[in-house]
Amino acid sequence: MAWDLAILGSGPGGYQAGVRAAQLGMKVVCVEKAELGGICGNWGCIPTKALLRSAEVLELIEHAADFGITVEGSVAPKFDATIARSRKVADQNSKGVEYLFKKNKIDVARGTGKLVKTPKGVRLAVDGNPLDAPKILLATGARPKPLPGIEHDGQSIISYREAMSLKKKPDRLVIIGAGAIGVEFAYFYAALGTKVVLLEALPHILPVEDEEIAAALHKQLEKMGIEILTSAKVEQVDKGPPVRVSAVDAKGQSRRIDGDLCLLAAGVRGNVENLGLEECGVKTERGFIVAPPPGYRTSVENVFAIGDVIGPPMLAHKASAEGINCVELMAGKKPAAIGYSAIPGCTYCHPEVASVGLTEKRAKEQGLKYKVGRFPFRASGKARAAGEVEGLVKVLIGDPHGELLGAHILGGASTDMISTLTLAMTAELTHDEIAATVFAHPTFAEAMKEAVEDAYGKAIDL
Ligand code: NAD
Repeated sequence: MAWDLAILGSGPGGYQAGVRAAQLGMKVVCVEKAELGGICGNWGCIPTKALLRSAEVLELIEHAADFGITVEGSVAPKFDATIARSRKVADQNSKGVEYLFKKNKIDVARGTGKLVKTPKGVRLAVDGNPLDAPKILLATGARPKPLPGIEHDGQSIISYREAMSLKKKPDRLVIIGAGAIGVEFAYFYAALGTKVVLLEALPHILPVEDEEIAAALHKQLEKMGIEILTSAKVEQVDKGPPVRVSAVDAKGQSRRIDGDLCLLAAGVRGNVENLGLEECGVKTERGFIVAPPPGYRTSVENVFAIGDVIGPPMLAHKASAEGINCVELMAGKKPAAIGYSAIPGCTYCHPEVASVGLTEKRAKEQGLKYKVGRFPFRASGKARAAGEVEGLVKVLIGDPHGELLGAHILGGASTDMISTLTLAMTAELTHDEIAATVFAHPTFAEAMKEAVEDAYGKAIDL
């Protein structure tokens, strides 16, 4: 068999690149050693959203009386059933990728892929057998990163993978790292009744988010009973039982926190090992493959790379965008370059967080002139009707040109709403153009227009 393109990895980067390549007439083979769909579909974005939905349903039922609904009898989460539902959703997702591959006549080569040197040049081999495909796209993703002296063992120091497939709900969970993974699991387990302690090395949770938004979320999470230690220096984790995390808190005091489990969520690192990179001359830098846009070419002429394995932001939608862009370029098309300054980020706790562009701190560091607009959901009719009044939209608008520099949303339907402001940034819309757009009423989305108007003192409902 011969193919035009061999893709290593079927995550959101690899599978979407494969489908687009097939649409463009390429004969594609995708090499995968695990489930189709990668971490996102099987152990990340999708199954966690299923778990978070269970937590939301529980929260809603617990607050049913606020909506005039009487719930009789006891309301309790059935932990194994929430896990089972999440695994089922992951399985459906993987089957969806299998369906797309069949539909687009993409072959799947099951096994471990590695670059090898052959007389024809560098090729992708599966379990040692080179594939006859002149172009290679590496989309191998990332995996959890250990801390110095603190490694995941899957038993007492777990990663997201175990955290979403536990047999029993822990009574006490210590989470190291308050990035998206740490915060999402903190919310999920706290909503289900686990006592959660969340430790973050930096001064605020979700350090990539705007400080004001992170501070507002911090309060909400504390209201749920989550204990949060920021500026915390983790020194040691003893496996126990109980697992004991030793840390120095913001005041310099030693703390010992015991839990049934410790979720280590201190970031991820690229899967660059055992790929034959060095042997074949593919350059890496600081643990990532060097494959810059536009083109995503590595240092080997016929080898390309996209997604988490080429570096941050390590997000599924960034990987997909790069994969599609890369194969379009391979096919001789001229796709628009990816706007790296307008890649949205989302954290699916409740209230949700979503953002795009610069935080206020970054705008200040860059010496930019800007106006700030805010609109709290408390002032939104839709939010009041839905009983979802926590949070706000905050926008940064460039002065004097009125371009959107950054948008930050806590609450509402922020993770869906953020795409509107991402579109506005990508299309380089200005304040007047956003203000001239008619937003549907009543919606959470109106808060975005109001925030933009507020930057000029023109919000109506404030
Ligand atoms: P992350 O890098 O986003 O967060 C890790 C956090 O751990 C950071 O806040 C960091 O300051 C903290 N940390 C590092 N060392 C520490 C230490 N010694 N003690 C205490 N805290 C420490 O990584 P993540 O949350 O593990 O997620 C991995 C990747 O997956 C990220 O790129 C993330 O954006 C992505 N992801 C995205 C979503 C989403 O979009 N909803 C969900 C999950 C993961």
